Amino acid sequence: MHDNNFLKENNAKHLWHPMAHPAEMRAHPPKVLIAAEGVTLTDADGHKTLDAVGGLWNVNLGYSCDPVKKAIADQLSALPYYSAFRGTSTGPAVELSYELAQWFKEDGLVRSFFTSGGSDSVETALRLARQYHKIRGERDRTKFISIKKGYHGTHFGGASVNGNANFRRNYEPLLPGCFQIPSPYLYRNPFNETDPARLAELCAAALEDEIAFQGADTVAAFIMEPVLGAGGVIPPNENFMPKVREICDRHGILLIADEVITAFGRTGAWTGSRLWGVKPDLSCTAKAITNGYFPFGAVLISEKVAEVFENDATAFGAIGHGYTYSAHPVGAAAALACLPEFKKADVAANAAARGEELLAGCLGLKKRYDLVGDVRGRGLMVALELVADRTTKQPVDKKLISLVFETAYAAGVMVRVSGNNIILSPPLVITADDVGKVVAAIEAGLAAA
Ligand code: PMP
Repeated sequence: MHDNNFLKENNAKHLWHPMAHPAEMRAHPPKVLIAAEGVTLTDADGHKTLDAVGGLWNVNLGYSCDPVKKAIADQLSALPYYSAFRGTSTGPAVELSYELAQWFKEDGLVRSFFTSGGSDSVETALRLARQYHKIRGERDRTKFISIKKGYHGTHFGGASVNGNANFRRNYEPLLPGCFQIPSPYLYRNPFNETDPARLAELCAAALEDEIAFQGADTVAAFIMEPVLGAGGVIPPNENFMPKVREICDRHGILLIADEVITAFGRTGAWTGSRLWGVKPDLSCTAKAITNGYFPFGAVLISEKVAEVFENDATAFGAIGHGYTYSAHPVGAAAALACLPEFKKADVAANAAARGEELLAGCLGLKKRYDLVGDVRGRGLMVALELVADRTTKQPVDKKLISLVFETAYAAGVMVRVSGNNIILSPPLVITADDVGKVVAAIEAGLAAA
């Protein structure tokens, strides 16, 4: 084992980081983390920070969840791997599919298809959506519509429905037949609309318009995050998703909820769709399903979609899709151990309560610092959008936002910088005291900037 100095010096010399420029990572080495306990991280210098990022929106129970660690260790001893391809299955995979059917009953989701993460789940849902229509004889329904600012992972399918230019340009040409409507993003939208309910109407009308333009009988699915996450935490107006559901139903288009961040309590509801009273046709999950301790995901499938596949008499129903690690028994065991822990800690209720405190604290910062142009959030997903000028809304200089990050870090809180947003997605088990620490550390950063 090399020492911590070796880690710090060699990081980014041999390692390329996701979502980062290799040269920038060499010039400004990232923090190297070596340990974690509860909601606290320790870096290679021994400096401790409260993790207001929650890993990457996924470590909802914090870093010391022993039942999950034990389940992983036990499964590694009993059966570290076997596949779920045709002909074999494993105990944890079967049990997890049973438990998830109970967990998601209220959302009308009755079957699971397991994956290795969020991008895999999105890819799976897009494929199943196309296949659903092919089985039913509507073979022209191949197109996808999504939302600008939406994030759906980085596989070619997910990147093609993504709504952020920086995840697209370098990888084009992407999948043909993917179209984006304006985002229900109140702070910046092409309609200059300032009323959230009217903006929801305008975005829904844009969806209607796009469907008419493409031809409804060519559209397979609409995909959206119930609360947009990586695009800058954008909670749509409460009318938006129900309206989308109604439009999709009217045109025979499937609704895919990308709940990779929002499933399992982060928004204050057990699923983001439930927040808006919507039942999706397919739902993508990953991240918190194993508390981030093992790469794993699940696509949940509605009764309506399941019936078409299961009653298929055309031979189009065979699933020609899957991963070596689909239904990995260790991941399934981790997820099985997480579900009772989520309930025991009532993470959804805590996310709702702590989320309100965090949002109120950040709105207070907006009052005191002109640098904060906008504050948005729902449950324990909150963003502060930093601007150089409140009138022009010009994004703040990169150096200033880095200063906010470094100051908060020195003050003992890890936050995440994404573009001109500071994104907060702490573990769902944080306390009111922790919320106070997060707000105080960001305030120190804003004061420095
Ligand atoms: N969908 C959403 C909504 C996400 O937030 C993410 C990851 N941030 C993904 C998909 C992709 O997940 P992964 O990084 O696990 O592939």
